[in-house]
Amino acid sequence: MTRIAFIGLGNMGSGMCANLCRAGFEVSAFDLVPEALERAAEAGARSAASAAEAAAGADVVISMLPAGEHVLDLYFGAGGVAAAVAAQTQAGSGSGNGALLIDCSTIAVAQAREAIERAAAMGLTMLDAPVSGGVAAAAAGGLTFMVGGSADGFARAQPVLAPMAGSIFHAGEAGNGQAAKIANNMLLGVSMIATCEAFNLAESLGLDAQTFFDISSKASGQCWSMTTYCPAPGPVPTAPSNRDYQPGFSVAMMLKDLRLATAAAAANGAPVDFGRAAEQAYAALAADGHDQRDFSVPMLALKGAL
Ligand code: NAD
Repeated sequence: MTRIAFIGLGNMGSGMCANLCRAGFEVSAFDLVPEALERAAEAGARSAASAAEAAAGADVVISMLPAGEHVLDLYFGAGGVAAAVAAQTQAGSGSGNGALLIDCSTIAVAQAREAIERAAAMGLTMLDAPVSGGVAAAAAGGLTFMVGGSADGFARAQPVLAPMAGSIFHAGEAGNGQAAKIANNMLLGVSMIATCEAFNLAESLGLDAQTFFDISSKASGQCWSMTTYCPAPGPVPTAPSNRDYQPGFSVAMMLKDLRLATAAAAANGAPVDFGRAAEQAYAALAADGHDQRDFSVPMLALKGAL
């Protein structure tokens, strides 16, 4: 029986943790927020009093935290989980290999590489395994995992990720999962704004949104932002545009990912002019108080309806 410690039971982590419990894993869970812990206990997890207590005796530690500083602090800060897990491996309790550490949060590529290196120096295998799919996919066990780290670590992780996943990809070495994630989300941010502009242009020229959708979704402008998440109300009934742009995926979340992408691009000399333009557009929306609306809300801004 694989014992899992799950740290971070927020919007995403709560659904992921519940799916691991449902799949029959023994899960010990921790979050700083007591209500989040209660929800995990209702789903079948044992609630722990601290991250270190959750990790004691675990074969796999999974984290799903807001940002990179939380991840580095959880594993390597004072009383960090990595040192506790390494000590219990040496003492002969817990997994013979040392527990596998899997961080599923979206963090900077450089932070992921630093964490994996520091874990390796303690004799532990760590993977970056960010996800795409959002809260609904987390609850339904349909996330896409993009995993960076050793092939051996990836093989060990697969059976644990499976109950939470629709697809699981090994993106290559340490940090490559985060690289795939931020490059993908930069493309998503750019394509969403371009889709909003295209619908607005078509409507300003006399086409209604449904007519433009019917044509463009079968023509070369077709993209996920249009066909699955259409920012104009009507053509895709499940899209946030039909519920006053309530998220979904918030402006704040998109801005976080675009900032990670443009910072990584700057550090590596990769030109991302459109990515930077998207970052500026979402930063302006957030500064105007729209950070908790769905990231398809530029549609309203273009219409002057914000
Ligand atoms: P969230 O804020 O809802 O959840 C984070 C949880 O971590 C909170 O419950 C918080 O109390 C807990 N936490 C923070 N520090 C902690 C610590 N030291 N120990 C224990 N618990 C701690 O965030 P979320 O929406 O679940 O997102 C989590 C990660 O997933 C983020 O990195 C985000 O960028 C990424 N992500 C989110 C989505 C989405 O649609 N929400 C989609 C893909 C990826």
